[in-house]
Amino acid sequence: MTVALTEGVDLRGWTTLHLGGPAAAMTEASDPDQLRVALALARERDWPVLVLGGGSNLVVSDAGWDGLVIRYTDATIERTDRGDVAHLRVGAGLGWDALVARTVGAGLAGLECLSGIPGRVGAAPIQNVGAYGQEVVQTIEAVEAVERATGEGTLIPASECGFAYRDSKFKGAWRDRYVITAVRFALTIGGAPTLRYPELAKAVGEAPTLASVREHVLRIRAGKSMVLDPVDPNSRSAGSFFTNPLVAPGTLADVDMPRWPTDDGRVKLSAAWLIDHAGFAKGEVHGGAGISANHVLALIGRGGPTADLVALAATIRAGVREAYGITLVPEPVFVGFDRTVDELLG
Ligand SMILES: Cc1cc2nc3c(=O)[nH]c(=O)nc-3n(C[C@H](O)[C@H](O)[C@H](O)COP(=O)(O)OP(=O)(O)OC[C@H]3O[C@@H](n4cnc5c(N)ncnc54)[C@H](O)[C@@H]3O)c2cc1C
Repeated sequence: MTVALTEGVDLRGWTTLHLGGPAAAMTEASDPDQLRVALALARERDWPVLVLGGGSNLVVSDAGWDGLVIRYTDATIERTDRGDVAHLRVGAGLGWDALVARTVGAGLAGLECLSGIPGRVGAAPIQNVGAYGQEVVQTIEAVEAVERATGEGTLIPASECGFAYRDSKFKGAWRDRYVITAVRFALTIGGAPTLRYPELAKAVGEAPTLASVREHVLRIRAGKSMVLDPVDPNSRSAGSFFTNPLVAPGTLADVDMPRWPTDDGRVKLSAAWLIDHAGFAKGEVHGGAGISANHVLALIGRGGPTADLVALAATIRAGVREAYGITLVPEPVFVGFDRTVDELLG
């Protein structure tokens, strides 16, 4: 089996920020065997491997990726029903929103609030994607993966993935260890939609259905440029650039701001509120980067370089820290940098 390589790929066209330098080479794999051949080639050539989904949670350096980019393309869906639960095994290469649309259309509850999130199914477990009162951890049963170093296939139960708010072991301790090849979900046949998010519940009104929830989520997201739209420059982002800080209950108790208690006893603050009140505004332009005109938490690429986006993120982080003593944590994955994220952002 041979590997078809494209050399010198401009990664700007493969990321939703439209930023970043070139990759030495790119290839596709549609099944675990092809993937193993690509991984073996990378080892042979001493190339670091970057697994690329939809590029919607990636900040690629101006130096680019001096190695092999692998795109896993299996987009198949297999369904087995047991009682009122539909067990889905979905190839990592399927578009995330295509999966949500299919499940909503089939009357399967569990993913409807995650409508409109860009990217591919294989990346959803990486940061436990979430929105409007749902997180993907609530429906993932297991993750199928190939270990990069050995090529061995493995089935990882959800309970071992370390899922947390915008986090998992795939983003931390297991970073660069696996290629996710499929995700197994358990969805409720004929289940009711989730309506935990007040803005959504109000918009949907009486007698909500999975379809009406999806429709309203897409509408709310579009208003914030949080769905990809080729003619909307404010959607040239990686989504929310910083996660909402999780703090001890008494933190900033004297400041009147949104705060949500979490299950583990901490309190979640609003990163958007902090950025806004630290003096940053929607629509600000900072060289080749900026802040979305429709969402203060979304940093956008304006042609680059990536260094401008990194400088803007560092300025925002310093401003929020100075005003509130809180260090914001970036949500996207930074690749191709020779410094750590904390060294880059200060
Ligand atoms: C407009 C916009 C709105 C967004 N809204 C949300 C939101 O509401 N909620 C939310 O949680 N996120 C949101 N995001 C972030 C992003 O869409 C999600 O994190 C998504 O899951 C990333 O998928 P991707 O395929 O684009 O991953 P990529 O950006 O290609 O990759 C992200 C990381 O996952 C790794 N990866 C990708 N695929 C695999 C695989 N098969 N195996 C192993 N590692 C892999 C990559 O190496 C990288 O480290 C938004 C982004 C944008 C641009």
